[in-house]
Amino acid sequence: MKVTALAGGVGGAKLLVGLSGALDQNSHLTAIVNTGDDATIYGVHVSPDVDIVTYWLAGLADRERGWGLKDDTFRVVEGLRALGRDAWFQLGDRDFATCIHRTERMGAGDKLTAITADVARALGVTATVLPMSDDSVATLIDTADGRTLEFQDYFVKERQEPEVHAIRFSGIEEASPGPDVLRAIEEADKVFLCPSNPLVSIGPILGLSGVRDALKAHPDVTAISPIIEGAALKGPADKMLAAAGIEVSAYGVAELYADFLDRFVLDVRDESHRDRINGLGIEAIVLDTIMADEERSVLLARDLL
Ligand code: GDP
Ligand code: CA
Repeated sequence: MKVTALAGGVGGAKLLVGLSGALDQNSHLTAIVNTGDDATIYGVHVSPDVDIVTYWLAGLADRERGWGLKDDTFRVVEGLRALGRDAWFQLGDRDFATCIHRTERMGAGDKLTAITADVARALGVTATVLPMSDDSVATLIDTADGRTLEFQDYFVKERQEPEVHAIRFSGIEEASPGPDVLRAIEEADKVFLCPSNPLVSIGPILGLSGVRDALKAHPDVTAISPIIEGAALKGPADKMLAAAGIEVSAYGVAELYADFLDRFVLDVRDESHRDRINGLGIEAIVLDTIMADEERSVLLARDLL
């Protein structure tokens, strides 16, 4: 069986780990990962969601923190601070190595897709990790107080505190999906949209030309709700949906994907929304979707498969 999943960071990584554990030897998992959060920081190309997914699938992630490698040290950023820099972006030393490697190879003309595949292989990941695009797409946040923030400035430096007025994806019109992205959707037996932020993690992937149409054409597309009891488990997804005028609920997320979705998985705590989601012409399934540990991720993935 071929399974392809669209993912952002932590919510995506948790489900990917489950799918990877639940699939047998003859199956293959492909992750299509958001790159709208990518940024140049301390001179290196940081690709937060691609690295989160790779580290989680490699079993090397710091699960508590969500991002970065477990047992990593932060000597380089400490060194930058000692030089008087406002080093607000935490980047572990081994994580830095990944970014240095990526930056140098990009400088030599290699594409993000090829570099990501090599990093995944080097770290022992058997799944295929596909950046959504080799072209630069930058998520920008227009704030209610009239500023435009690059995503990491909003997310990390300003701790998601500014009120969001609008979300934009700079470069999305000109960007193409990565070379294997559309095929990974078309050839999959099952496609999943991970419980990632619908607006800033799944949104950029859906915005690439051809992706939404490929999902529409596919007969077996399932999304898992990242919103449980009207809130995100972590991060600003709930605030962002509210700012965009979308109902902050499993129903609101299902509605966003209604044009291409076959099935929507909502959490047991939201069972009351089931009929409304069925009413969108989407089959609503109720499962326990909180992936507190790897075992829970695998159990959910088995149910999904
Ligand atoms: P980020 O890039 O690290 O912020 O991560 P994502 O975009 O992949 O995911 C953020 C979303 O994941 C939030 O809306 C969370 O509510 C959701 N999420 C995180 N863990 C879980 C989980 O165990 N179950 C479900 N259903 N959603 C989760
Ligand atoms: Ca992210």
